[in-house]
Amino acid sequence: MKYIGAHVSAAGGVDKAPVNAAELGANAFALFTKNQRQWVAKPLESSTVSAFKANCQRLGFVPEAILPHDSYLINLGAPEEEKLIKSRDAFIDEMQRCEQLGLPLLNFHPGSHLKKISEASCLSLIAESINLAHQAVPNVVAVIENTAGQGTNLGWSFEQLASIIEQVEDKQRVGVCIDTCHAFAAGYDLRTHSAAESTFNAFGDIVGFEFLRGMHLNDAKTPLGSRVDRHQALGEGEIGLACFEVLMQDARFDGIPLILETIKPERWAEEIRLLRQFQVATA
Ligand SMILES: [Zn+2]
Ligand SMILES: [Zn+2]
Repeated sequence: MKYIGAHVSAAGGVDKAPVNAAELGANAFALFTKNQRQWVAKPLESSTVSAFKANCQRLGFVPEAILPHDSYLINLGAPEEEKLIKSRDAFIDEMQRCEQLGLPLLNFHPGSHLKKISEASCLSLIAESINLAHQAVPNVVAVIENTAGQGTNLGWSFEQLASIIEQVEDKQRVGVCIDTCHAFAAGYDLRTHSAAESTFNAFGDIVGFEFLRGMHLNDAKTPLGSRVDRHQALGEGEIGLACFEVLMQDARFDGIPLILETIKPERWAEEIRLLRQFQVATA
């Protein structure tokens, strides 16, 4: 089973997100459970939580096909203590919100060293942040997203993702989400069937598909290895469609949320239909 959707708006309340996703013909979605540009948010109302759960059930969204994304402000590898503590608190709050909503996953960007500490120390801080969040919240899986490697953002290489996972104590509750645009910008070729297959196989060898808990399906505006994070509509960027054909026909991507973060929301329904066509092409 392929779970395909998009990062939909939760304006007006998280309970609106499943409604927005259903309108696209999706059977998966991503959302922010709070304003992604603010540190603090008021707690979720119990009426909103029940409405969210009821909408998901009514519209056929299973919890494992829903991939909440945390705030962009959080840096779990922050070199300065004050910022690190603030980030860890905010991350635990995000995890608690997922727990309240009955959602098993939380997708986040690992962190940045800001040229103040080494890469290795930053990766260790990120792993320690995940360990602390695991102690604070019982069930949610920390899903590390690979980055484009823009600025001092870590987690752009499969080795860095593996290094974080290695330092996490509870391996059952750590996973990764591969963003195709970020991987391509970080230097992983996805432009042909064989290039996509070898990139995915490298991921399997270095990180392992048992850790893959989601994918972000985006074309890229900037060239291979540019280290610049600019998403594009499917088939309109530097990656092209071959990679998405491979992915839709590969059972290693079954049972996890496959989420569009492409730049034309008016085309999401069409992009979801296109992905489903790739799926049946050889089925
Ligand atoms: Zn992201
Ligand atoms: Zn992404």
